[in-house]
Amino acid sequence: MVLATRNQGKLAELRDLLRGQVTGLDVDTQVIDAATAGAPDVVESEVTFAGNARLKALAVAEATGVAAIADDSGLAVDVLGGAPGIFSARWSGAHGDDAANLKLLLDQLADVGAEHRSAAFVCAAVLAVPGAGERPASAVVEEGRLPGTLLTEPRGEGGFGYDPILQPEGEERSCAELSSEEKNAISHRGQAFRALLPSIVKALAGGRRDAE
Ligand code: IMP
Repeated sequence: MVLATRNQGKLAELRDLLRGQVTGLDVDTQVIDAATAGAPDVVESEVTFAGNARLKALAVAEATGVAAIADDSGLAVDVLGGAPGIFSARWSGAHGDDAANLKLLLDQLADVGAEHRSAAFVCAAVLAVPGAGERPASAVVEEGRLPGTLLTEPRGEGGFGYDPILQPEGEERSCAELSSEEKNAISHRGQAFRALLPSIVKALAGGRRDAE
């Protein structure tokens, strides 16, 4: 099985989730990232998280001939009508410049009061199984949300991206002040991957039967 990402953090998270779920599955050798699988980079040309995750998972499943998982995520701010959304990683222009993205967003919301600063991290996770013979390729989509409030200044040293400014509902701390275990337990990505788990386990078990 291939995880359509070049992000080793996401790969480790998925392996942890799958460990012990399928008898005889060695997650470290049998669940690999896109570069290791020799899969091509996929242009995220869709306009929703689910659309982009689906596109990536199906392209990688088709390129490698084995089941593939992909995710797409971002921050949706209510007062901005859901933006930055799919543009979260390049809100300030340069892709992946977390500090510049976060600063721009805080500047844009400078005059917005606490009662209107609701936002959520959103993640769509997709499992794609390549077609075989008469059977067409298929895809299962699951979504997760971590709702909260945007702080006016970054807080905490952990995490990445917009973590220092999202305070989850019911929390006194920002996401960057949570341990990775605490964040994974409630995060949008954790929720989406966990919802996908039964389909992943089924695909892995099916793949093993096919190989025997
Ligand atoms: P991607 O799904 O890895 O492409 O992430 C898109 C962008 O959304 C990241 O670059 C971050 O800016 C933002 N993002 C997604 N998930 C998180 C999160 O858990 N914490 C902080 N920022 C996130």
